[in-house]
Amino acid sequence: MLEGDARDRNLGVNTLVDLIKSARETVVLTGAGISTASGIPDFRSPTTGMWRKMDSNLLSVDSLYGDTTVFYEHCLEIFPPMYEALPNPAHYALAALEQQGYISHIVTQNIDGLHQKAGANNVIEVHGHIRTVHCIKCQHSVPFSEFLKKLAEREIPPLCELCQGMIRPDVVLFGDQLPSAFQIAREVSADADLLLVVGSSLTVSPVNFLPTLAKKLAIINLTPTPYDHRAEVAVCAEAATILQNIQSQLI
Ligand code: NAD
Repeated sequence: MLEGDARDRNLGVNTLVDLIKSARETVVLTGAGISTASGIPDFRSPTTGMWRKMDSNLLSVDSLYGDTTVFYEHCLEIFPPMYEALPNPAHYALAALEQQGYISHIVTQNIDGLHQKAGANNVIEVHGHIRTVHCIKCQHSVPFSEFLKKLAEREIPPLCELCQGMIRPDVVLFGDQLPSAFQIAREVSADADLLLVVGSSLTVSPVNFLPTLAKKLAIINLTPTPYDHRAEVAVCAEAATILQNIQSQLI
């Protein structure tokens, strides 16, 4: 890294620490970028993002019902490694900041559950999760591990044991309605003095409307986002490096 970059990064960390210290309530909004260090690819990173090798329309309601076999074959590719993934230092740093009272809520677009695995409690999942799936006919809820087992045994589409309806992931697909958690995310973002975005391109709507609600905005992301110009500070760097640095200064 160039010397100038390191200096900018340190200044960025100092500004972030001051912003968090002076905020009455800080809410964090995370995206797929916080989990890349756990081995889960994001969607839009230029060389490693999933969209480079996969059509984004595949993760849609249209694909679930119109191209069902292809949809579940992609589930078989994407979900097993995500289900096995472990938190990285960025997730642990946020969980520690929550426990120390510096963060009130973590709003996440991620479905991987890694904030909770790292020990965070106040997590608002606006795009669902991979703990369960459900039957589209009788709504019966099934553990995600059973869903993965069915896929591995090539039961495609996977069917409900009770009514033989199709079971689908409890994740928000393109074309789905947002869960009620989104309304809670709106409320906590509007109440926050500071919204700290970590690892999100801020291009997915309507989540990218949340940064407009908080009184102050700060961003940690490897690449520039469309909201950088509105932020008090936008640090282009690895989430884990910056969050660990912040946490060590706030102990
Ligand atoms: P995105 O792919 O659009 O953007 C991720 C951003 O993170 C990129 O701008 C990238 O530069 C940045 N980034 C990558 N690695 C980073 C790192 N180590 N440190 C800091 N920044 C890093 O992701 P998004 O904005 O979250 O939106 C995409 C959608 O993808 C979300 O709705 C989410 O549900 C879904 N998704 C979730 C997962 C997951 O649960 N882990 C994985 C892939 C996609």
